[in-house]
Amino acid sequence: MDRVDISIVVPLLNEEESLPELCSWIKRVCEEKAFSYEIILVDDGSTDKSWEVILDIKEKDSNVRGIKFRRNYGKSAALNVGFEAATGDIVITMDADLQDSPEEIPELYRMVMEDNYDLVSGWKKKRHDPISKTVPSKFFNAFTRRMSGIKLHDFNCGLKAYKNEVVKNIEVYGEMHRYIPVIAKWEGFTKIGEKVVQHQARKYGSSKFTGLKRAINGFLDIISISFIGRFGKAPMHFFGLLGTFLFFMGFVVALYIGGVKIYRLSNQMQTTLVTDNPYFYIALTIIILGTMLFLVGFLAELINQNNPRRSQYKVESRI
Ligand code: UDP
Ligand code: MG
Repeated sequence: MDRVDISIVVPLLNEEESLPELCSWIKRVCEEKAFSYEIILVDDGSTDKSWEVILDIKEKDSNVRGIKFRRNYGKSAALNVGFEAATGDIVITMDADLQDSPEEIPELYRMVMEDNYDLVSGWKKKRHDPISKTVPSKFFNAFTRRMSGIKLHDFNCGLKAYKNEVVKNIEVYGEMHRYIPVIAKWEGFTKIGEKVVQHQARKYGSSKFTGLKRAINGFLDIISISFIGRFGKAPMHFFGLLGTFLFFMGFVVALYIGGVKIYRLSNQMQTTLVTDNPYFYIALTIIILGTMLFLVGFLAELINQNNPRRSQYKVESRI
């Protein structure tokens, strides 16, 4: 197989109007710089004519490949499948809606090839989106920056460039495409750069990410991401420690209650039933909780051992 300089991975959901324009623009830029390239269009279960449009583009341009999901799995799933398919030395991801400009490709390519970045993230410094998106984004970025220690302004930019080995070593699912730099860092790809990129207002169609659900899912994902990053490989370090600690506390209290009872009995002092003592129930609860946490940790370790792959998406066709 021929070597490919750049794989451009484009996740898309109902973007029929934008696709022809996007592909011919990418083609123009890549041919100008004499890059060998492939465009991998991942149709994330579109219900419009996107797939027909892709078949049509493919007909005219053999650099285009297409993957079609049976249903909508989300942007992360689409990216993940695109990453698996990518053969280029450098992989560039881009939204399908023409908000990201293909003109950025050559410089992103240069930064990865020459400046040796593992990952370069776009920064939509001047952003053309409604305020309902830009304000939550500011909070999200500040939070993710603090949590991850990665100094990026715009984690969720669709336009990013990677060394091939980076995308082959990360797995994205759920809503985790927002945290790819964080995931990459945890996998040991620490040279992460940033480039200010052009951003346009959406030309056709409408945004697929709106509303409260997006914010809530994003928040839950960052909790699981930071947890997985810290304890994913050794869940027992978290659950086992907490479980043992609780069990031990409960045990000490129970021991104390029992001790007092025996002492009083042996000195013929007046005693009450152990079960009349409220602390007895607290101790009991803590012991049970501790045991359960310990078991959860143990189960998590067992699941890790068998390591089921999460990214099993039903692909309908590939071209
Ligand atoms: N997208 C996708 N699957 C989804 C939602 C979105 O593949 O479930 C694609 C969408 O078609 C676009 C990119 O992800 O190419 C970014 O989505 P969008 O432009 O709607 O997000 P925004 O720019 O408004 O944040
Ligand atoms: Mg967009």
